[in-house]
Amino acid sequence: MRAAVTERVGSMTLLDRPDPPSPGPGEVLLAPEAVGICGSDYHFFAGELSDAAGGSQFPRVQGHEVGATIAALGGDCRGELEVGQRVALMPLRACGHCYPCSVGRPNTCDNFELIGIHVDGGLQELLCTGQDQVFPIGAADGSIAAMAEPVSIAVRAVRRARIEPGERVVVLGAGPIGQCVALVASERGAEVLVIDLQPSRLERSREIGVETLLWSNAEEVVRQARQWGGPGGPPVGVDATGVPAAVRAMVDMVASAGRAVQVGMSTSEVTLRIGSLTEKELDLLGVSCCDADDFAEAVAVVERNDEAIRRLVSHEFPLAEAPDALRFAMNNPTEVMKVVIWNG
Ligand SMILES: [Zn+2]
Ligand SMILES: [Zn+2]
Repeated sequence: MRAAVTERVGSMTLLDRPDPPSPGPGEVLLAPEAVGICGSDYHFFAGELSDAAGGSQFPRVQGHEVGATIAALGGDCRGELEVGQRVALMPLRACGHCYPCSVGRPNTCDNFELIGIHVDGGLQELLCTGQDQVFPIGAADGSIAAMAEPVSIAVRAVRRARIEPGERVVVLGAGPIGQCVALVASERGAEVLVIDLQPSRLERSREIGVETLLWSNAEEVVRQARQWGGPGGPPVGVDATGVPAAVRAMVDMVASAGRAVQVGMSTSEVTLRIGSLTEKELDLLGVSCCDADDFAEAVAVVERNDEAIRRLVSHEFPLAEAPDALRFAMNNPTEVMKVVIWNG
């Protein structure tokens, strides 16, 4: 089979590799159809994945946003799984015995294994995985199915933020994750304001029916977002940028007794006024990846929002051009929303 292998920092090569063996008990052999590329893939490719995230280990087949069909089933798989079925892949496998696992938070497992990061991922023609990481999905094609993974992060963020119908929610960052957070929060009945530097990204947000604000400077954005959010500011802020100025703006704009939710990844540091946390008694919440319940909900969100999800896919490449696709995505951040690599 063909596999796009990241052999070392900045170098991905298409190689012929032996097919995986037949799936064992509880395992599923997948034929990936389409793989979405995201920011963490760029970090991995550049050798910049933080040690806390397991670091970049080479060689590795990347790809953790995977839409696939089932090629073969091992024994002991759950009855709903069938050969030929289209599925979305939950990339996380938890250890089951560390502290976060013991308190029902397997998505923050100390020893987690992510497909495409710690074990080989979707940029290959066949992939063997655990049956509990495979979710049947009613999606028109593999690229829509692949979007269940980024949507699952948004589902997690909305759950952590405890967003209620009618609440005003500000989302900083209109990249794929910010767009998905806006979509999932709107589905919950929230009023959403999305903030970004780029008008073209805000245009996409308006297409899903949410309000938008162009980032000018932090002070002005905080003022306008507080005005929009009601007398004391918005009860919920979600940062999907990881940019220090945006994170600071989120904490500054959120209402007293509100929730500030960090989704954007970064190794940067940010300066906050400590009093913002005590005076406002903010809940400052982090979001990692999702658990199985979040992923199942993400699959349902994707099934209900086929068109909105499809509009997020901005560029498509065949597997043979996977190295170019990654470089293109990294070099054109303003133009790219979601790059999808098709297996074929
Ligand atoms: Zn991702
Ligand atoms: Zn664990």
